[in-house]
Amino acid sequence: MSVQNVLDLIKENNIQFVDFRFVDLLGHAHHITLPAAEVDADTFVNGVAFDGSSIHGFRGIEQSDMVMMPDPESVFIDPFTDHPTLNVMSNIYTPDGERYDRDPRSIAQKAEEYLQTTGIGTQAFFAPEPEFFIFDEVRYESSMNASSYVVDSEEAAWNTNRKEEGGSLGSKVAVKGGYVPVAPVDSQQDIRSEMVRLLQETGLRVERHHHEVATAGQAEINFRFDSLTKTADNLMKFKYVIHNTARQYGKTATFMPKPLFGDNGSGMHVHTSIFNGDTPLFYDKGAYANLSELAMHYIGGILYHAPALIAITNPSTNSFKRLVPGYEAPVNLVFSKGNRSAAIRIPIAAVTPKGCRIEFRTPDNTANPYLAFAAMLLAGIDGIKRKLDPVALGYGPFDKNIYELPEEEKKEIRSVPGTLDEALSALEADSDFLTESGVFTKEFIENYVAIKRAEAKAVAIRVHPHEFSLYYDC
Ligand code: GLU
Ligand code: MG
Ligand code: MG
Repeated sequence: MSVQNVLDLIKENNIQFVDFRFVDLLGHAHHITLPAAEVDADTFVNGVAFDGSSIHGFRGIEQSDMVMMPDPESVFIDPFTDHPTLNVMSNIYTPDGERYDRDPRSIAQKAEEYLQTTGIGTQAFFAPEPEFFIFDEVRYESSMNASSYVVDSEEAAWNTNRKEEGGSLGSKVAVKGGYVPVAPVDSQQDIRSEMVRLLQETGLRVERHHHEVATAGQAEINFRFDSLTKTADNLMKFKYVIHNTARQYGKTATFMPKPLFGDNGSGMHVHTSIFNGDTPLFYDKGAYANLSELAMHYIGGILYHAPALIAITNPSTNSFKRLVPGYEAPVNLVFSKGNRSAAIRIPIAAVTPKGCRIEFRTPDNTANPYLAFAAMLLAGIDGIKRKLDPVALGYGPFDKNIYELPEEEKKEIRSVPGTLDEALSALEADSDFLTESGVFTKEFIENYVAIKRAEAKAVAIRVHPHEFSLYYDC
């Protein structure tokens, strides 16, 4: 869409406000709104100024002036505002007209540009599978109440939650029992359908929705793949629509990776493939899972760099409460055709050559999608350039149930980092694959690690409710 198209759209739809948005380091969207009468072609040339020093992780107070440069390709009409409003995503520039090197969206674009300079392919496609929970506002508040966490077993945790709900337990969904039952057990069909309707209204091509495995309203809605930055934009739009639709229903939607102890968490599996023009580069009929050598090297790169990569794809303390055995979240740094405990799964059902892709199952929705997709692509490119062979490196394939392997064999398998701090240390030790191309700067990584270390510390120094059941002697 050209700038002229956007200006026409404003006129034709009687748009009264234009909402200029950008994304911070943590993946949160921010906005400044201009009356439509103040927006013309020059706005797209000069941008919209804002105070970068008030955004966590950006600039110091002494160099606070920053500029949002709107991308006309990203516009959509906001379905939630009382006054007709057009939303547009922006890149962040310094006042000197340079792309700001901490702007996640610019980093995503630089990763796409870098792929093209390598000669490997022209475009990488991404498709995230965001899972989330829809909770009642009351339920959300009650889960903040320490008493519901003061438990000494998984079963007790579940019983605590059930008692809170009251009434008969017969019609309730059991722990891990939520996968696709029809109504009345699935009580959230209408809210998910409304989410889908609004997502479509904003231009997203939604493929399906369903109740996910966990109890208590875990949902998944899938939308169609696209190129890297567009998919990250789509995910920002997705979260905006999900959060606001839930609010309209008097509920809250959360993408937090592990809101409920003892049940499945919410992941953001990411499917990726690389194309050269129209030619899919991951497909080779007859090879293992029909994967080309190039795809195998891509997998090699992801798994080799996984401990560092996870600091960006799973960047919260809560992320690591999801990455534990028994809940369909991956813990093993291996690849496999079907194994859901593997970090990389290769979907093989109903896959065409063009649809041939790999699924990285580790990421979750606390990731900033621009940074996560860029970092994944760079890890994969490094694997391709260095011809990292995941088989020779001991990453699989593991098509058996890993939990049932003999202990000796299990010992050989590497695991994801156990904590955010561990992942951050891995990133400090292994960040050249991100910085050598200039996509991420060294300064960016240092700043990012410092911010995330502070988060980890803020959680670590707080008293956890479960400590009372372990240590409160009286
Ligand atoms: N919720 C699981 C996770 O945390 C994944 C379930 C699925 O395979 O869709 O990754
Ligand atoms: Mg799922
Ligand atoms: Mg999946």
